[in-house]
Amino acid sequence: MNRDFTGNLFVTMKKQRNIETKVYKELTRYEAKKLFQLQSHHAGVGCYKAKFLGQSGECLKCDASETIEHLMIMCCESEKERHEITKFFTQKKVQQSLYMLLGGFDSEEENCMIVSLVIQFLTRIARLKDI
Ligand SMILES: [Zn+2]
Repeated sequence: MNRDFTGNLFVTMKKQRNIETKVYKELTRYEAKKLFQLQSHHAGVGCYKAKFLGQSGECLKCDASETIEHLMIMCCESEKERHEITKFFTQKKVQQSLYMLLGGFDSEEENCMIVSLVIQFLTRIARLKDI
């Protein structure tokens, strides 16, 4: 699998692209839109809003800059809601990263599962709508 430094999902081989396409088919149109926004780094998190809308780039819950990675992996306020995702990575014995969270696994089944957990997580912390 090809990965660039930032974990960009678009730098991939044909096999990986086919797996990514199948993941999208498992989602509703709305969920697919949200996933694509996250993958393309155009999601409405603090840093993005600061850059394009002139709003504060700080996380509303802790004293850190709110990037997609912060929201998805690091924010201490949503640790409890992230439990299923953490459990998934522990079971798979894979290091948690933004790339893997957004469908970077080699198998279609694993990608569908992790993306589903990510959508559930964002729904639980009430952030799916404003992403
Ligand atoms: Zn935070």
